Amino acid sequence: MFAQIIVDVPAKGTNRLFDYLIPPSLITTVEIGSRVEVSFGGRVLQGYVVGLSRESNYEISKLKPITRVLDVEPPLTEELVSLARWMSDKYLCHIAAALGVMLPGALKGKAERYVVVNEATVSSADSSLDESLVQTSGQDTMQAIMTFPIQQSILSYLRSKNKVTLPELLDTFAEDIGTVKQMFESGVLQEVQAVRDRLAVRKVLTVFAKFGAEHLREVAEKLPAQAHKQKDTLLAIAEHDKPLRVTELNELVPGAAGAARTLANKGLIELKEVEALRDPYAGRKFVRTDALQLTSDQQIVFQAIEQAVVASYHEVFLLHGITGSGKTEVYLQTIQSCLDLGREAIVLVPEISLTPQMVERFKGRFGDQVAVLHSRLSQGERYDEWRKIKRGLVKVAIGARSAIFAPFKRVGLIIIDEEHESSYKQEETPKYHARDVAIRRAELNDAVVVLGSATPSLEAIHETDYEQDGTGRFKLLSMHNRASGGLLPEVHIIDMRDELKQGNRSMFSKGLYKAIEERLHKKEQTILFLNRRGYATFVMCRTCGYVAQCPHCDISLTYHQKSHAMRCHYCGYAERELKRCPSCDSEHIRHFGTGTQRVEEELYKLFPSIRVIRMDVDTTSAKGSHEKLLTAFRNKQGDVLLGTQMVAKGLDFPDVTLVGVIAADTVLGLPDFRAGERTFQLLTQVAGRAGRHLLPGQVFVQTYMPEHYAIQASSRHDYAAFAEHELEARKARGYPPYHKMMLITFMHEQVPPLIRAASSFADELRKRGAALSMRGDSQLPCLDVLGPVASPIPRIKDRYRFQCVVKYRMDTLASQLVAETAELFEERLAKEKIGFSVDVDPQYLM
Ligand code: ADP
Ligand code: ZN
Ligand code: ZN
Repeated sequence: MFAQIIVDVPAKGTNRLFDYLIPPSLITTVEIGSRVEVSFGGRVLQGYVVGLSRESNYEISKLKPITRVLDVEPPLTEELVSLARWMSDKYLCHIAAALGVMLPGALKGKAERYVVVNEATVSSADSSLDESLVQTSGQDTMQAIMTFPIQQSILSYLRSKNKVTLPELLDTFAEDIGTVKQMFESGVLQEVQAVRDRLAVRKVLTVFAKFGAEHLREVAEKLPAQAHKQKDTLLAIAEHDKPLRVTELNELVPGAAGAARTLANKGLIELKEVEALRDPYAGRKFVRTDALQLTSDQQIVFQAIEQAVVASYHEVFLLHGITGSGKTEVYLQTIQSCLDLGREAIVLVPEISLTPQMVERFKGRFGDQVAVLHSRLSQGERYDEWRKIKRGLVKVAIGARSAIFAPFKRVGLIIIDEEHESSYKQEETPKYHARDVAIRRAELNDAVVVLGSATPSLEAIHETDYEQDGTGRFKLLSMHNRASGGLLPEVHIIDMRDELKQGNRSMFSKGLYKAIEERLHKKEQTILFLNRRGYATFVMCRTCGYVAQCPHCDISLTYHQKSHAMRCHYCGYAERELKRCPSCDSEHIRHFGTGTQRVEEELYKLFPSIRVIRMDVDTTSAKGSHEKLLTAFRNKQGDVLLGTQMVAKGLDFPDVTLVGVIAADTVLGLPDFRAGERTFQLLTQVAGRAGRHLLPGQVFVQTYMPEHYAIQASSRHDYAAFAEHELEARKARGYPPYHKMMLITFMHEQVPPLIRAASSFADELRKRGAALSMRGDSQLPCLDVLGPVASPIPRIKDRYRFQCVVKYRMDTLASQLVAETAELFEERLAKEKIGFSVDVDPQYLM
């Protein structure tokens, strides 16, 4: 038998299948999805089995055998293997990278070399050890006798320790490197290579009673008085009819660990290492919740989804439900239908929404059937949650982006909450989008996908057959009312240009200032939102709101402090820094980017008694701090919750009646065609935090661009108007969802060879693109290559970066063209050491 293997090394020429022999001893354990150890070009590597066959196209005598299987059970399934192949084609990444991202970090085995004692050589030489040493070393007897104890201590050191590496050995015996060398030469020591996982399974020392409780009690009573520890221990064991961890036993009877060993020696109990699954939510009680009576909106939506789930009919639903419309309850009840059919469900939520509150809603309904996967878990906890899924011990997986690879075998339903979130796209290789992977997985499983959002992405809304030309793949479901019956908050747009004219230079408008003051009096709470993404400085006139824009691309120019220039990140257009506003001649030009800390300071200055809870990357880096801050705010230990994106999403506090957006423009000014969309989404999300319960809410949005359609539409809670305007603009400019995009980045330490390579790559791609005929009704060609231009971040770690943006129509074979061109250039780029990366459907063009 032969196995087709992907070796886990991201090097040139390795993104293909290699045939290996399956030795007879491994025939029963090697399966598709197995992780194995193989030798490859003189190295020992981890590989993934992606196919099995009875024949091979290669010369069999030249094939190498698989040397080891790394897991008892294959960690991947055939489905995941085929998903990885699809990802490799779609995102132009190595299959190994796609397979790697599916596994928990603990299983990313690395090949290691370590020293072992060749026992056969030792024992044959044992009787005359000193003699053989003299022969092999060729030194005089005196010296051999001197080294003899060192030999012994090296041997016993190696035997007592597990997997000592050569550098470790040499460190420990730094004085005796000569002896170590001799021992290698004489074959007593050997260096071997093997793949070792980063993390071992956790084992827990556990007590197993060898007799019934009655007998143990009898024995305990007969123990002499001075053996009271043993007696108490034995009685505690008798109390429990299940195996007991030694740590638990120690809590019941202090000092029981020692007594247990004695009892084990007496043959009354047995101590065994038992594999344990860590539970990050151990000891937490989740209040059981029952299904709510659905509102009429929810009922209609639920029925549509349930029908598809029950029929095992692959369908993608876009659930557009306003904030507070009760999407979660719909998720919970459709998951229940899915579980009732004996199938499993995956729920994706953005990492920052994966709060304990969120988890509680799922654990409260489905209890132990829920596994949670998020980055704040330790690697061990994550591994164990993953194993619960793999073994079928849980039926629901909830987690951030990578939970889409939960190794279930019968996925029936995949829910993506806050579908529009850019964090569903992974920014590192493999640069996949969880939404697309979810749809592919669902296709492979005849499963249903539900994409939920109050502000669907334009890609998603466009897929609901927005153009009514029959091309949409998604079914639109809507919920336009809040489940509680409450109203959406009233939104005030504050024109910050007027504030400046009236002499207010503070970051708070008079309206927002008064509103905060009022909340302090009434002891109600406020959320203040500041977008930190705005740190990439853009240039704006504080008098009239003018933002410097590229004349060719309709996006903001970025200010480069060093060169005092403003540049377009898409096409490379540049002009000098502004001294005066070209629109109103004012000199109040500002480079944007304000920090949360500055806002906090100003709050304390204006309201000396105010209690501010600041939530940003700085205050939430420690484990659990995120939760602590939110709990403090919930317990009303703060008047104001001030923060970045983290305060915008999913939070539900009954006493929050005011939401203030410090500067709505920080997103609008970004050099990104999605700036308007992101602004609309954020404002809608933030506004949705106010007045969710009995008290009515109020929202203040401070902006220098009050007439911008994204701000206008969000203040009226009018998604449809926003989408219509935005889609028209995208269509006219040829941006997604009408055209697709790819970002190709080149990296090198020197600029000239970098530009040469990037330019000839772009030329080659253009040539191939031009060969495709103009098709369809669009004025734009099928494939358009912009650049190369310097990347927005032009140098990272001493490597310069240039990029090309490829715009293409969906019906073109663009990724194939790029893949072919990349293959053509592979050798050249490798030889010149030019880094190269492709990002398909980039979320940020940076
Ligand atoms: P969304 O995710 O759509 O913003 P949520 O799922 O957070 O909304 O629901 C908003 C509030 O409405 C929550 O407090 C939830 O408990 C409540 N809710 C949802 N569905 C119902 C229902 N059918 N009956 C009563 N309350 C509901
Ligand atoms: Zn101006
Ligand atoms: Zn431009």
